Amino acid sequence: MTTENFGWTGKHIRVNLTASTITVCENDQRIMTQYLGARGVGAKYMWDEVDPKTDALEPNNKLIVATGPLTCMPPAGNRTYFVTKSPLTGGIANAGVGGYFGAELKFSGFDFIIFEGRAKSPVYLWINDGKMELRPADHIWGKGTEDSEEILLAETDPMAHIAAIGPAGENMVRLANVITGGVTGARAAGRGGVGAVMGSKHLKAVVVRGTGGVKIADLKTFNKNISKIWKYWEDPSPSCAQGLGQHGTIGVLSFTNNLGILPTRNFRTGVFEGAHKISGETFAEKYSARGARPSKACFGCPAGCARLSVVNEPGYEGKGEGPEYESVASLGSVTGVDHLPAVIKAGRICNDMGMDTISAGVTVGCAMELYEIGALPEKDIGYPLHFGDHEALLDLVQKMATRDGFGWIMGEGSYRLGERYGHPELSMSVKKQELPNYDPRGVKGQGLAFVTNNRGGDHCRAEVNCSEIYETTMLGYWSPEKDVDAHAIEGKVEMTIHYQDYSAWAYDSLGFCYFLLMDTPEQDVVDLLESATGIKFGGVDELNKQGERIFTLERLFNLRAGLSAKDDTLPKRFLTEPMPDGPSKGQVFEQDQLLPDYYRMRGWDKNGIPQKEKIDELDLS
Ligand code: SF4
Repeated sequence: MTTENFGWTGKHIRVNLTASTITVCENDQRIMTQYLGARGVGAKYMWDEVDPKTDALEPNNKLIVATGPLTCMPPAGNRTYFVTKSPLTGGIANAGVGGYFGAELKFSGFDFIIFEGRAKSPVYLWINDGKMELRPADHIWGKGTEDSEEILLAETDPMAHIAAIGPAGENMVRLANVITGGVTGARAAGRGGVGAVMGSKHLKAVVVRGTGGVKIADLKTFNKNISKIWKYWEDPSPSCAQGLGQHGTIGVLSFTNNLGILPTRNFRTGVFEGAHKISGETFAEKYSARGARPSKACFGCPAGCARLSVVNEPGYEGKGEGPEYESVASLGSVTGVDHLPAVIKAGRICNDMGMDTISAGVTVGCAMELYEIGALPEKDIGYPLHFGDHEALLDLVQKMATRDGFGWIMGEGSYRLGERYGHPELSMSVKKQELPNYDPRGVKGQGLAFVTNNRGGDHCRAEVNCSEIYETTMLGYWSPEKDVDAHAIEGKVEMTIHYQDYSAWAYDSLGFCYFLLMDTPEQDVVDLLESATGIKFGGVDELNKQGERIFTLERLFNLRAGLSAKDDTLPKRFLTEPMPDGPSKGQVFEQDQLLPDYYRMRGWDKNGIPQKEKIDELDLS
């Protein structure tokens, strides 16, 4: 083991907001080697320092803002993770974000920050090349992320990077996120209500400026390894990677609609008749600042999948980052809205208010279905609420963020909304977190990942769809000679576990964007990590074991928090209502067949509890 730090800076900061103290600490090298960084290190500190039963919005909860050993390194090491107990799910949350914030934190000399306690009044943390101070934030409390960004840059350093909450976080909306880059450069640490935890701590923002660097153990080999990974991106598998370069993530909307898995009208079906009106092609033609060409990229990334939208239609005008596929689908097809300027505006409102677009859109979709079946009275909303009503969409996302009127219960998320009106089964969520935009009846491995991911309904912690529908060579399941049947369940348990463990270390703990790894063999990621850190990790199998350790530790945290096997389930709709239309017509999700096998292959008992042998094997005793 090296004593000098390569890849990591070797230091972190502990901020006690109650006592207004800031302490610089040396990293524990054993923790960094076993848990790597970002999501892994966040999970370890949550396990060691936070009682899982604590209320997520009370001062005893902690918030860990962590980078990985490859954050700040090309070709796409730029990610930061916000790890805490989730006010939405009651389990662990780990929301990741790209952009520039993480690299700036590393350049300022720190790998991660632990926030504890609660400030007496609103504050922001200003980190300027190793010097830190907590500053009053009363003057920006109540402001959106765009205005906050502008004011904070003016009073700190125009070259700084900022992670801020908006009014949604301040109001402890359970769907609140953390935004870097304001609205025009928005990148979101989106899921699990991490913005509400920041709000509960009266922490408005973290502002960072760093001009230092990070040492690489073997620069010559590291550069060779980067070139190797970059070549996979230059010559990608056909559908996903090329499409991403052409239209950004919004480009996949037509693709998922053609497969019959584009969630439509609260996931009643997977085919949206208005898909062409909100597609990547329509966006590029009418609203993208640079047409089909990328507008910008995250730190160090040559791919640049981000788009900038410019809308001039009266009533919807404005500029903003995106929208991404997940935002357009959640705010568009899930609500039945095919009015693209309104969908883009709803996304801008979410980014300015600091609210997760997936959860916001799916919560509106849930409210629309509750209204249409007669469970939600018009008097509660103030107007009829039908699918496809784009003005209602705009009204509700705004009210949700400010907890205004009916927006109060909407801000609790779709599960609590459905529960209030007697139909929790109409919340399209797992562990109370709203599902992303792949109808699990048509992609079975991805569906199993939704069921079992520790942070609830989520695709990013296991992108099984890369093998099932996107035809990338990731993890070796799909190849031009060997197709993967998205509707089949055979082999999907093993595939899902492999994706979960790999994601836990390779993207989420190293700080790497997974888009750049879609066609990269696992060994090449190991080589990159080892050349950066100078540590031999023992190969692919050993690192996948580290991923399993991180995943299992999160599972143990959730179990202690009170979650159980009963929370490992998709909504009834996917289990009992066959897909009504399109290429996935007739499909249901075979949870009863998949889940017992999943528990068994994980080394868990029939109640989903990791067994002692597994805990010992993973050094978690
Ligand atoms: S591929 Fe897109 S999301 Fe990933 S690092 Fe590059 S610009 Fe950011």
